[in-house]
Amino acid sequence: MQIFTLIFLIALILTTLTQVWLSARHIRHVRIHQDRVPEEFASQISLADHKKAADYTCAKTRAGYLSILIHAGLLLAFTLGGGLNALSEFWANWLNDPLAHGMVLIFSTFFIMSVAEIPLSYYRTFVIEEQFGFNKMTRAMFFTDLIKQSALGLLLGAPLLFCVLWLMEKMGGSWWLYAWFAWIAFNLFVLAIFPTWIAPLFNKFTPLEDATLKTRIEQLMNKCGFKASGLFVMDGSRRSNHGNAYFTGFGKTKRIVFFDTLLARLNPAEIEAVLAHELGHFKHRHVIKRIVISFAMSLAFFWILGYLMEQSWFYAGLGVEVASVPSAAMALLLFFLVMPVFTFLLHPISSIYSRKHEFEADAYAARNASADDLIHALVKLYQDNAATLTPDPLHSAFYDSHPPASIRVAHLQSQEQA
Ligand SMILES: [Zn+2]
Repeated sequence: MQIFTLIFLIALILTTLTQVWLSARHIRHVRIHQDRVPEEFASQISLADHKKAADYTCAKTRAGYLSILIHAGLLLAFTLGGGLNALSEFWANWLNDPLAHGMVLIFSTFFIMSVAEIPLSYYRTFVIEEQFGFNKMTRAMFFTDLIKQSALGLLLGAPLLFCVLWLMEKMGGSWWLYAWFAWIAFNLFVLAIFPTWIAPLFNKFTPLEDATLKTRIEQLMNKCGFKASGLFVMDGSRRSNHGNAYFTGFGKTKRIVFFDTLLARLNPAEIEAVLAHELGHFKHRHVIKRIVISFAMSLAFFWILGYLMEQSWFYAGLGVEVASVPSAAMALLLFFLVMPVFTFLLHPISSIYSRKHEFEADAYAARNASADDLIHALVKLYQDNAATLTPDPLHSAFYDSHPPASIRVAHLQSQEQA
C-alpha cells in the first residue's frame, strides 16, 4: 500500500470518528439537560419549549449521522473504490479534448454527489422541519429550488472552472497564482451580484414599509455613521418559520435584509438591538477581515494544489490512474474531495475567531442600543428556532459560529453593567 493511501485512510477514519463522537456527545449532553431550563432563561422559556428544542436538536443531529456516513462512503467510492477512474474512462470515450473532458468529469462528479444528497435534504425538510412545525415548503417548491440552484451553479461555475482548468494547462509552473486571481475576481463578482441578481431568484424583497420602525432604524444608522442603499423585508416565511436578519452586498450595493418572520416576532427596540449587532460587524470590519482571510487561505490552497498536481503519488495514493502527470482536472477534483478530511480537525480555530467577532458585535450593540433588548431578542430567536440552550461544549466548538446561549447572554449582561 502507498504511504499516502495510509495517511489518507487514517485522516478519513479520524475525521469520521470525531464527527460521530461529537454528535453522540451532543445528543447525550442535550438529553441530560432537557428537564430543567437554565436559570438565566427560566423567565422567558417554558419547560415545554426547552424540551422541544432538545427533541429538535437530537433529531437533526441523528440525521447528521447518516450524512457523515454517506460522505465518507462516497469519498471512498470515488477514490480508492475506482469511481473517478470509471467516470474518467466513460467520458474519454466521447471527448478527446482535455479541457472538455475535465469539465464534464468534474461536473458529473459533483452531480452524483448532489443527487446522493437529495434524499437527506428531503428528509430534513419534510420530516424533521415538518414535524417541529418549521417547514412551509411545498414539494414543488423544493424541487424548483433544486433546479434553480443547479442551473445557477452551472451558469456561474462553468466559466470559472473553464478558466481555472485553462490556466492550469497553459500557464506553466505559476498557474496557481493566476488561478487565484481568477478565484478572487469570481468571488467579488458573486458578492456584488448576490443581493440584486441571485437572492431575488429565491425570495421576494420589498422595501420596509413600517414608517416608525424605519425612522428608528435610520436614526440608529445615522448615529453609527452607516449608509446602506436600502432596508428590505424578505419573505422568509415562504419556506420556513425560522427568523433572521442580515447584511448583504458591499460598497454601494450594501443593503439590510430582515426576514418577515423576525419583524413579526420582535418589538421595535429588539429589532434595533439586532440591527446594532449587525452594524457592529460592519464597524469592526469583520466582513472585510473574513474575506481577506479566506483569500489568503485560498492562495495557500492553490499553492499546495500546484505542488500536489506534479506528484504522481498524489494520484496513485488516492487510487486514481492518470495517463500523464500532471493531470489538471483530476488533481483539482481530488484536492476538493480530499481536503476537508485533512482540515476538519482545524474547525475550532475558525469557530474561536468567529466567536470573537460575535462578542465584539454584541459589545457594539450594548453601547449603541441596549444589551437588555438584544438579550430579549436572542432569547425569542432561540425559542422560535428551537435552538438548544445547552449544546455540548466540544460539539459547539467544532460547529457553531456563535457562542453558546448562556455564554453569550452572560457576556451581554456584563456589558450592561459596564
Ligand atoms: Zn453576529
